[in-house]
Order: sequence, then structure tokens, then C-alpha cells
Amino acid sequence: MDEQIRQLKQLAEPLLRWYDANRRRLPWREEVSAYRTWVSEIMLQQTRVTAVLPYFARFMDAYPTVEALANADTEQLMKLWEGLGYYSRARNLQKAARIVAEQYGGQFPATYEDLIALPGIGDYTAGAILSIAFGQPIPAVDGNVLRVAARITGSRLDVLDGKNRKLFRAWMAEAMSKARPGAYNQALMDLGATVCLPHGEPLCGECPAREFCAARREGCQSELPVRTRKKEKRLEHLTVFVLLREGCVALRRRSEEGLLAGLWEYPHVPGTLDETAAARQLAEWGIMPHRWVKKLAARHEFTHIRWEMTGYILEVQGYGPTEWLWADSGERRKLAVPSAFERFTREITEEERG
Ligand code: SF4
Repeated sequence: MDEQIRQLKQLAEPLLRWYDANRRRLPWREEVSAYRTWVSEIMLQQTRVTAVLPYFARFMDAYPTVEALANADTEQLMKLWEGLGYYSRARNLQKAARIVAEQYGGQFPATYEDLIALPGIGDYTAGAILSIAFGQPIPAVDGNVLRVAARITGSRLDVLDGKNRKLFRAWMAEAMSKARPGAYNQALMDLGATVCLPHGEPLCGECPAREFCAARREGCQSELPVRTRKKEKRLEHLTVFVLLREGCVALRRRSEEGLLAGLWEYPHVPGTLDETAAARQLAEWGIMPHRWVKKLAARHEFTHIRWEMTGYILEVQGYGPTEWLWADSGERRKLAVPSAFERFTREITEEERG
């Protein structure tokens, strides 16, 4: 048996005992179904538990079943998701819900192969659903679990390398509790989130692995897991136009593909335009500036891209391209404008309040 599997096998019993005493009470744990596990796990990707809680409650109120989600109005769904970010998650949720409703009669498939074929469900989410909702001994290995496993085994394999992640997953599959796989995976999630914290600040004294953890023994917690440096984010400069006309604001829809697909945005162009160049751009759109209200800067970080935005807020005349929508405040409440533009949305609200 691999030494790492032997080390990790020591974990199941104390971990489950720790979990029974310390587990976080979360709504998707109190009432378990494949649908609820799936929605919660998708929401929790890239997002903290405290931020997810109110969204999860609203989501379950609006779409209590997979059929309700499959039939949901997409615009409303995006609106409900507003603020959580990474909107492709919401689109994939609905795409997958439609497949489950149509091809599986509303019942979630209970095999790894079928689950992983659904949009937005990867290895980790499939493991979470199978273990938590169906009681199958399949590991759910994310960054938290890799951190715990790397520290317990003292492994210096680079966890950003796909080959190594596979190896960690194979170790976890061998070492996990076969009697309580769902509790085991959730216990590891909790341990990674509350005790075996990143950035070298683990609370080893409270950890059920403290007696046999290699990183603790060797005092190298802060060095593990090994992660090769991430690539620098691509920097993009944009000039954003917040155009106000008779109580309405100009919006346009983003393309159905790529970043923030299908959401609404303020018209913008690449680059940083000064007032003269901005006026030229407006003229190209057939827009006449009436009053320049404000110039402001904003930034937004996506996973791989950083936007540095220069914004102009103006009162204008003219209608601009036909695909633009001039939306009053009532219409804007129904449209999803991504939080990347939050700074500008806030300015409009303040401007409207006068
Ligand atoms: S003993 Fe410390 S480093 Fe090891 S798993 Fe527990 S919290 Fe993490």
C-alpha cells in the first residue's frame, strides 16, 4: 500500500468524530437531496458559505425542484444570481436542470459518468452529489481537501498539476470512509474551511489529524500544499459610457458566448479615452452629449482578467445603435447587470436620487 494511503487512512475515524461534534449546520445539510446538494455545491464554487446562504434560500424559494429550475425564466434566474458572480454557473445549472427534467424524468442520475456529462458538473461536484445524496464512496477533492491531504501526507507534489490531483484523488478514494462517505467528504470540507486554513495559519491544536499529520510534525504547514505560481491576470482597459436620457439609461446585451454571456452592460469600448476621444466615440454612435456629469475610475477582477475602467456619466440626446435598450429604473431592476459594473450602477442610483 502507498505510504500516503496508509497515512490518510488514519484520518477517517477521528475526522468523523470531530465532524459529529463540530459540523457546520447548513440548510443543504439539514434537508438533503441531490438537487439541493448540487445547487449548493455550484453556488459554493469560488464563493464563501456566508455569502451563499441568502442566495440558496432565495433560490430554493423560487425554484424548489429541478423542474421549476428547468422551466425558469432565464432573465429572472440571472437577476436572482446577481452579485454571486461567475454567471456561467447559473446558465449551466439551468441547462443541466433541463437535461435532468427531460432525459431523467426529474431524477438525478446516480452514476459518476452520467453526472459528469451534465453541464457545469466536474469531478468534485459529481463526488459531492454521489457521496452526500446517494451514499456512494466517491471522493470530492477540491482545493481545501488537497491542502489537508498534502499536509497530512507531507507530499510536495504540485497540486496545480492535473496528474498530481488525480493521484491525490486516488489516495482519497482508498482512504475515505466507506461507511459514511457523505459525512466524510463534508467533514473534510469543514476541516479545510475552518481548521486546516490556508496561508500557513492552520489551527493544528484543534485538528483531528494532529497526532499523525506530517506537516505538523515537521513544522512545514505554511509550505504545503505546493502550488506553482499562477499566471498573471490579463489586464484590459475599457472606457464605459453611462448615458442618461429622460430618466433612462442606455444598456446593451453582451454576446451569448464568453465572459458574462448574455448579460446587460453599459456601452463601452476598449482603451482609455480622454474627453475628446470619448466625444468622438459618442458622435460615432449618433449620441450628442448634453451635460458631462462625472468622470470616474473603477476596476474589476475576474479569474483570468482584470478590467481597469474609465467611466463617463453623461446626459445625452440621440438614440444610438438600434440594439441598445433605453431602460428606466423599473426595467433595470428586471435586467441583470453584472457586478463588474457595480460602481457605475451605484452612481446612477445616486444621480437619480439627485
Ligand atoms: S494538523 Fe494542522 S496542518 Fe495537519 S491537517 Fe490538521 S490543521 Fe492541517
